[in-house]
Amino acid sequence: MIQSVLIANRGEIAVRISQTAKRMGIVTYGIRSSKEPKAYYLSEVDHIIDFPENSSTQPEFLQIDELIQIALNNKVDAIHPGYGYLSENAEMARKCHEREIIFIGPDASIIQKMGDKLTAKACAIDAGVPVLGGSSKPAETFAEACEMAKQTGYPLIIKAAAGGGGRGMRIVYDQEDLETNLKLASSEADRAFGNATVFIEKYLESPKHIEIQIVADNFGNVIHLGERECSVQRKHQKVIEEAPSSALNSALREKMTNSAIALAREVNYTSLGTVEFLLDEDGSYYFMEMNTRIQVEHPVTELITGIDLVELQFHIASGLPLPITQPEVDLNGWAIECRINAEDPQSNFVPSTGSIRRLRFPAGNDIRVDSGIIAGSEVTPWFDSMLAKIIVYGTNRKQAIERAMQALRDFHISGIKTSVPFCKAVIMHDKFRNGSYNTAFIEKDLKEMV
Ligand code: ADP
Repeated sequence: MIQSVLIANRGEIAVRISQTAKRMGIVTYGIRSSKEPKAYYLSEVDHIIDFPENSSTQPEFLQIDELIQIALNNKVDAIHPGYGYLSENAEMARKCHEREIIFIGPDASIIQKMGDKLTAKACAIDAGVPVLGGSSKPAETFAEACEMAKQTGYPLIIKAAAGGGGRGMRIVYDQEDLETNLKLASSEADRAFGNATVFIEKYLESPKHIEIQIVADNFGNVIHLGERECSVQRKHQKVIEEAPSSALNSALREKMTNSAIALAREVNYTSLGTVEFLLDEDGSYYFMEMNTRIQVEHPVTELITGIDLVELQFHIASGLPLPITQPEVDLNGWAIECRINAEDPQSNFVPSTGSIRRLRFPAGNDIRVDSGIIAGSEVTPWFDSMLAKIIVYGTNRKQAIERAMQALRDFHISGIKTSVPFCKAVIMHDKFRNGSYNTAFIEKDLKEMV
């Protein structure tokens, strides 16, 4: 078993990882960033490492060689990258492997394959998993794009092959807007991801975002832990997630989980992973992408399965076989997660910064708060705006909704603005309550708020 881990991340996920590591007797090392030297996650790790000053303009958590050097200097067994930052960076995984440090995630070659949406789509096709019309080839010229547009029809979406975080996507409704959007998408992709490759896909106007949690060990065992529904999105970014999804019956669940497992088998996947699909109104579903890391919304799966996903990551990375089999996975009850971001929903969601003065978290039997803040924490503009997540459990969806609402009411913070009022508006809305919402929900039904 891994004995020590360097957590190459910050905020709530650094706290989350160290909690499980501690419980498992794994010694934790955290990195102190010069931009938030007093951050709360540092009080949760066993050892704090001051990141050495250097001339790089990159955030500390993106500096591969320095992080590996820190791991070597402290003789840690493993690096946990969390999500974001280096979590889906094949070079990081490769370099860790070369220096005999365990990278908590799949092999570099798998990260590379799945990190490119086009290669990932090609793997899905090989695995017999449905993909959206369009091409699994890049759209390099306007002529090629026109040819592809003929196949997909309008509306279509232009996506960056290396895209992530909801960025690098353009929806095109009309042939006459294709050329301009192709150019813009490609130059945006180049700037944001250092890769100008874009491709074209049929755009679904009112799908649901359904993703399947899978986990695979190094011995060929692959299982799924059910689905999460993440259709409450603002600018293609998730706001509220739930598990299970009210859109799936057991037949559809079986089909989608089989597809996710087929893809994992196709690429010899190991570790924790998420296969993302779009589910159309007619019940057809299409592979979108695979994330090769722990997801922000993993707690909803933990609450309905009773399984600690970070523990599974440590377990598999230690070279142990999966401790559970598919029939032993029991999906029970309903969980909802609300992301608490430091932003002002009344002012176009501008990031809110400042000192957190008072802070009170909701508490109770079926409430969990994963947080990277305490009273006195400074919220700076340097990092992602997500501060905490409120996750609630209910025996059924109705109960989970009531508990989510109560938990949001019981969350008190002063000193900064947060997305709490926005989350409340979502939870109160009929379309959320009856489960009929889709990815267009916020833009259409909560227009007045966004
Ligand atoms: P990222 O990697 O940037 O998160 P994704 O490919 O996961 O991008 O897509 C993010 C969101 O964008 C999806 O959840 C969905 O709401 C929307 N989206 C992506 N592709 C399509 C599509 N073909 N049709 C409709 N919506 C899409």
